[in-house]
Amino acid sequence: MATNSISSKGGRLTLIKSVLSSIPTYFMSVHVILVSVARRIEQLQWDFLWGDGGAGGHYHLVSWDQICMSKEQGGLGVRRLVLFNLALLGKWLWRFVEERERLWRRVVVAKFGVDRGVLVSAMRVEEGQLRVWNVQLRRDVQDWELDQLVDLLGFLYDLHLGQADNDALVWDCPRAKGIFTVSSFYGALVEDKCVFHGTLVYLWKSVWVPGTPSKVAFFVWTASLGRILTIDNLIRRGHILVNWCCLCGQVAESIDHLFIHCSVSSRLWMLVVAIFAMVWVQPGSLFVVLQSWVGGSVGKRRRKAWILALRYLLWLIWLERNRRVFHGVAHSITWLERCLLTVLYSWVTGLVDPDVLAFTDFVENLIC
Ligand SMILES: [Zn+2]
Repeated sequence: MATNSISSKGGRLTLIKSVLSSIPTYFMSVHVILVSVARRIEQLQWDFLWGDGGAGGHYHLVSWDQICMSKEQGGLGVRRLVLFNLALLGKWLWRFVEERERLWRRVVVAKFGVDRGVLVSAMRVEEGQLRVWNVQLRRDVQDWELDQLVDLLGFLYDLHLGQADNDALVWDCPRAKGIFTVSSFYGALVEDKCVFHGTLVYLWKSVWVPGTPSKVAFFVWTASLGRILTIDNLIRRGHILVNWCCLCGQVAESIDHLFIHCSVSSRLWMLVVAIFAMVWVQPGSLFVVLQSWVGGSVGKRRRKAWILALRYLLWLIWLERNRRVFHGVAHSITWLERCLLTVLYSWVTGLVDPDVLAFTDFVENLIC
């Protein structure tokens, strides 16, 4: 992977998902990974994502717990190694039941002497009119396990089994269609561990939009969580700073001011709204912008450009803010407006056909 790709957060995330999380997969498919080893590997991934490498000095803007949540829940969908290890090993349990004639299974049965079926016919016996579950355990139940046993028996005796149904092993997991898959088992394990913060449903479809460069998508995700390092966030982290907006120089900098209410940003918003011939009511927060910017009223033809325009507008404001803060270079509003249009053009034509859509036609298509 090129150095530029690794230096961006999007490139680092891709590297973590495709390589760093996959390296221990073979080991974890046959062995139980030590919790301490898994935590060390995850710490390395977390440090790498935020550009640290263990040297310190870089803020880890989002917790590892949140990063490991699915995108639907506001995370990045990076695997938790201990749970993924359980899911991989779970496949052997499924295969043990399904592959009854395989040599490896016969070796296990010969060594441990366990060859009991798991079908209903093997576990339920009829005693006159009564049908009794023949639950046999390999060891005595401990006191603290009695409640679990009672729950299990309660679950079994509450089952109503149809007489006409075939007796078969079915993997009862959403999206798995009755067949065991590691991903469905992992999804169930993560869901079990996940604690969703707050009552708002995370708008993942508004953040992860196809066609958006990965570094921009990562930035929008971080901003949507309110974790980017604006001055108010730096002050909360203990820095002693004068809080002012470097774009307008009038009020304190916060995420909502910088991206929505600032007079410089408002000019760019007005440009976007004007080229789509839309009416704009300034929302109160970035969250509301992401929530409402779905493009339902701009028509199917212009919807892609409308959605991408929001992503690039936020990215452009952030780049300009950082240029002013770290390099002392300020571009004019005219330059920013021109940059907004040309980059949006390149993004959109990357999705259609650059040979058949000239820049002037592109702008005209947006307006009408
Ligand atoms: Zn401002």
